[in-house]
Amino acid sequence: MRDAPSFTPKTSLGQNFLINRDIVRRTVERADITKKDVILEIGPGQGVLTREILSSPCSHLHSIEIDRRLEPFLKDIEEDDRFSLHWGDGVKFPYGELRPVPSKVVANIPYHVTTPLIWSILEKLAPSGLSYMILMVQKEAADRLVAQACTKERYPLGITLAAMGSAKTYMKVSPGSFRPIPKVSSALVELTIERRRDLPSDNLWRKVLKAGFSQRRKKLANNLVSLGIKKEEILDLMDRSGIPSEARAETLSVYQWLEFVESLRQTV
Ligand code: SAM
Repeated sequence: MRDAPSFTPKTSLGQNFLINRDIVRRTVERADITKKDVILEIGPGQGVLTREILSSPCSHLHSIEIDRRLEPFLKDIEEDDRFSLHWGDGVKFPYGELRPVPSKVVANIPYHVTTPLIWSILEKLAPSGLSYMILMVQKEAADRLVAQACTKERYPLGITLAAMGSAKTYMKVSPGSFRPIPKVSSALVELTIERRRDLPSDNLWRKVLKAGFSQRRKKLANNLVSLGIKKEEILDLMDRSGIPSEARAETLSVYQWLEFVESLRQTV
């Protein structure tokens, strides 16, 4: 038997590896993988989730890993011809070039890049058939991804996910399920894409939401002035989208955001 290679995890790369077999099994079971599914995993690490995904009937698995030091742990998995290992940064990865095209994402992702990573995956894969993601994220990130209107956790990516489908927390996961033990709690979130809107690649949508949430305590209209549009014009457009002039960004429903950005598009 070969000795396990030695490895010093880097906190800067979010290297907290899953050791709780039950959580690994339940993550893959929950994804309900069929032989038609092509899976994408970001950050295979030492391969614990990777092996479980490959024990499902999936037709292919793409795993994207940034740290080459993990190669010895993943070598034997590469013998499975349903498996493609890609070295690179998951945030900048050209997902649109992956063949076969992923239908589901199953991953314990690096927590420090949660938001840009999900934007990037959505932007490049939502138009081409991605329908589901189950992701291990920091508990606070899960709260933001699933946040309803009028809560302090509401933020642009959560609104975009709600506009495209649904987001919910499947289960909380304690720090003891990982090695090294992280300082934070975790949660598995499920993101479902039901409506193929091109919002993640829509510059105006992203710009308006970002500006709207730039200073949470401020009223929406005051934040949006930074877009270079006169306040009276913003108030007029808000009124036409049924948004009160006093509104703050977190109070708007998904429908109001969609309406508002559409009417703004006609004027800019
Ligand atoms: N999937 C493994 C598990 O569950 O044990 C490892 C998960 S660990 C939380 C995150 C993994 O993502 C690490 O293997 C780390 O090297 C990798 N990683 C960190 N930043 C990355 C990035 N920008 N792109 C791709 N992988 C990254």
